[in-house]
Amino acid sequence: MRVLSAGEVLRLWDECRDASPDGRALALAAAVDGGTGFAGLADRPVGRVTALLLRLRTALSGPEMSATVTCPDCGQAVEFQTATGPLLALEDKVVDSPQPLLHGGYEVTWRCPSYGDLLAVAEQSGAEDPDRGAALLLDRCVQRVRHEEGTAPVAAADLPVAVCEALSDAMSAADPLADVLVDLRCPDCGVQFTACFDAAAFVWAEVESRARHLLLDVDALARSYGWSERDVLALSEPRRAAYLRIVTGELP
Ligand SMILES: [Zn+2]
Repeated sequence: MRVLSAGEVLRLWDECRDASPDGRALALAAAVDGGTGFAGLADRPVGRVTALLLRLRTALSGPEMSATVTCPDCGQAVEFQTATGPLLALEDKVVDSPQPLLHGGYEVTWRCPSYGDLLAVAEQSGAEDPDRGAALLLDRCVQRVRHEEGTAPVAAADLPVAVCEALSDAMSAADPLADVLVDLRCPDCGVQFTACFDAAAFVWAEVESRARHLLLDVDALARSYGWSERDVLALSEPRRAAYLRIVTGELP
């Protein structure tokens, strides 16, 4: 995977600040991808994008991750540790072209949800109506339905609940990185719960943090030496750090 230069990190931060979370995830993944590009990634299973984001995170800050979620029972912050390696190993299980689902007399041809689907559904349903969002997502990802006793195609919205549940299970199995679930226990109230680790939000927070530090570096060196932003960003990280230590008096 390509490692981003300091200038690219700042450019990404600049471009993605005002984007939606889904649009931002795609832009970050496209920046480290070997050439599939934004549009190509938008059509792939969500987990393929998650894997690229985890690789970006490894390149930026290493594999170990410490994250925080809110306990659903008492509201306390619960910290947990995870790592990019075991999550990236799940990418081998992502199925780009799944087999049709056979359940209850139905044959359902389907595909895994992509970021393109998530963006389209968010545009149509708004963030306030998760039920409508789920129905729209199902409609987009179900390509064809046939029932063994009928010749006419069946609409995704007319599928029985049991078939929809089987399809949901099949989608989770075919894209285990679409939702990264972590089993946790709250140290304050003791309740056990499952949290969803939002890899895209986590990586974006790190890009923001990296960009803030770079801006401070540029500011300090521009003031001291009169260098331009381009001059400072062109320095290797060790040289930039060495000049900063000279400026702050740590390196005589
Ligand atoms: Zn709790």
